[in-house]
Amino acid sequence: MLSSNEWEVIVIGGGHAGCEAAVAAHKMGRKTLMVTLNPERIGFMSCNPAIGGLAKGQLVKEIDALGGVMGMNTDKTAIQYRVLNASKGPAVRSSRAQCDKPLYALKMQEFLGNLHGFEILRGEAAEILEESGKITGLRMTDGSVLKTPTVVVTSGTFLAAIMHTGEKKEEGGRQGDQAAKSLSGSLSSLGFRLRRLKTGTPPRLHRRSIDFSQLTPQPGDELPRAFSFYYRGARFPELPQVNCYITHTNQQVHDIINENIHLSPMYSGAITGIGPRYCPSIEDKVKKFSDKEKHQIFLEPEGLDVDEVYVNGVSTSLPADVQNKFIHKINGLESAEFIRYGYAVEYDAVDARQLKATLESKDVQGLFCAGQLNGTSGYEEAAGQGLIAGINAALRSRDEGTFTLARHEAYIGVMIDDLVLKGSDEPYRMFTSRAEYRLLLREDNADLRLSEKGFRLGILSSENYRVFEQKCETIERGRKDLEAFFIYPDSKTNEWMTEKSFPVLKDRIAGDVFLRRPQIGWAELEQLGLKSENLDLAIKEQIEIQVKYAGYIQRDLDLLEGMRKHENQGLPDSLDYGLVPGLSNEIRNRLKEVRPETIGQMSRLQGITPAAVANLMIYLKMQSTQRKGA
Ligand SMILES: Cc1cc2nc3c(=O)[nH]c(=O)nc-3n(C[C@H](O)[C@H](O)[C@H](O)COP(=O)(O)OP(=O)(O)OC[C@H]3O[C@@H](n4cnc5c(N)ncnc54)[C@H](O)[C@@H]3O)c2cc1C
Repeated sequence: MLSSNEWEVIVIGGGHAGCEAAVAAHKMGRKTLMVTLNPERIGFMSCNPAIGGLAKGQLVKEIDALGGVMGMNTDKTAIQYRVLNASKGPAVRSSRAQCDKPLYALKMQEFLGNLHGFEILRGEAAEILEESGKITGLRMTDGSVLKTPTVVVTSGTFLAAIMHTGEKKEEGGRQGDQAAKSLSGSLSSLGFRLRRLKTGTPPRLHRRSIDFSQLTPQPGDELPRAFSFYYRGARFPELPQVNCYITHTNQQVHDIINENIHLSPMYSGAITGIGPRYCPSIEDKVKKFSDKEKHQIFLEPEGLDVDEVYVNGVSTSLPADVQNKFIHKINGLESAEFIRYGYAVEYDAVDARQLKATLESKDVQGLFCAGQLNGTSGYEEAAGQGLIAGINAALRSRDEGTFTLARHEAYIGVMIDDLVLKGSDEPYRMFTSRAEYRLLLREDNADLRLSEKGFRLGILSSENYRVFEQKCETIERGRKDLEAFFIYPDSKTNEWMTEKSFPVLKDRIAGDVFLRRPQIGWAELEQLGLKSENLDLAIKEQIEIQVKYAGYIQRDLDLLEGMRKHENQGLPDSLDYGLVPGLSNEIRNRLKEVRPETIGQMSRLQGITPAAVANLMIYLKMQSTQRKGA
């Protein structure tokens, strides 16, 4: 029995990583505490009011499939849904939802508040306590000590954080929030190598001051689809849907930025931290792409009853008067009123190479790190890590093993593998191109890949698991019906084929074979007599993708099979790389530094040659033969 001052899992932070970590541990039945600087900011979106996007949509679907909260909370608060790349192949389609920002945080807080036995403590974690390489607790800045064998740190952009607008510097993790000053020292003394990273955010403008009549509206999808596989709201979408708007920078804007670039802390040298290359500031865009006449800007409402409009595409830390000048030169924004100026934030991050694939420290048992702290950028990347760290902290608290996802199982697996093996010199964001098995990791099949695992872990509810089982059965039945459906080359069918400019049929053809043709979709099969009224759209789409892309999917599976043979072969902790013949000193040092856990991890390390992998495998085999012979 645990005392009132004792928990099985403590999560530091109530951001996107912290929420997933804490909810996962709680659902797994662990006594869980979330410690956060400000409970009113739990689930707060620090930057853009949107969830998902290219490759990020896949992450959210995976979190949802495992039983996480991000997809569900998005559906409660979405004010515009869009599937990006909808006209491209299924591997690169990604969902994105514009959300009501204050409501997103509020709904997350409500959800946590309704979890029976879940505890939240307002305060600043100052020191992580450890004895003989194992976590024992946490000391708060007020001196109180909380006991626990596992801590998940998800401190985001808050560690020793400094906000910059021009020459103005202020301490703070984001506008309206204090910085966390003590935890960096504690992480450092626990052996973490810390470095400075930075990220920036654009200005927010008052809705009434924007001339929308000048701008191109960008509506959401006509038939929006829920983010969560397990959405069960009474009506969908829950909230009225709104437009975003598109405008552009122009030469005048670029001139003002160029004239004042020396005032940007990034260029004056006031910020030393490294920023996200794929989310560049407008200063960066104007400097690095000087040949471009304009850059696109999306004006995104931050909510239904919110005055703030987010100016996506002009993240900046230029002084306020310069922001005033250049924003007013943009079409539609000539009279724009600022609610908030753009700013950059610099913060401490850990080197994720010091973590295992479970996101536990390699050196301190029970210490987990997740989210922006690990050198990533983005809510979805943070949430995906939070979920894995929370699950593993829960498992560690009762010594019940570990849970990891491989690169072929999930984008979450790809991301964590990249982070713990290669680290990140700049804030890491997810792209579909980072995954080698993209056709296996589609967002439409995230539930088929992961929901079984989520249920076994105790995160996905039995109710949702039943929905999942029914879906699998329906897909199976639908496929069988399709395979048993034949189209015959009779005159009626061939008339129809000619009308559609398709080649006429000579022999009978099975429905699934016919569906492989590029011009043929489910609608055409139904016109030819396939009975499938009882199948909903998602099921038809799933079967169609499975059938149409079967060849490509098989190619990915074959590739995987080849890799798999050695992927999971473990490398013992006690392995002395000094004794392995044929390795260069450089490779030896790299392996000693990173200590990969498997052959698969080793093979993906920078600078590791196939010959080095072969030498190590021969050595391990010889060792094993010698042991057997002894
Ligand atoms: C100015 C700014 C610009 C950004 N720009 C972008 C962008 O362009 N693109 C993008 O993808 N992402 C951007 N982000 C990042 C985005 O906000 C993060 O990716 C995401 O919020 C990370 O989630 P997290 O859970 O790791 O941390 P956060 O959401 O930052 O949450 C951290 C949590 O930890 C708590 N905390 C920290 N230290 C302590 C402590 N010692 N004790 C108790 N509680 C503590 C905080 O109170 C907070 O609840 C930006 C963030 C900021 C602030």
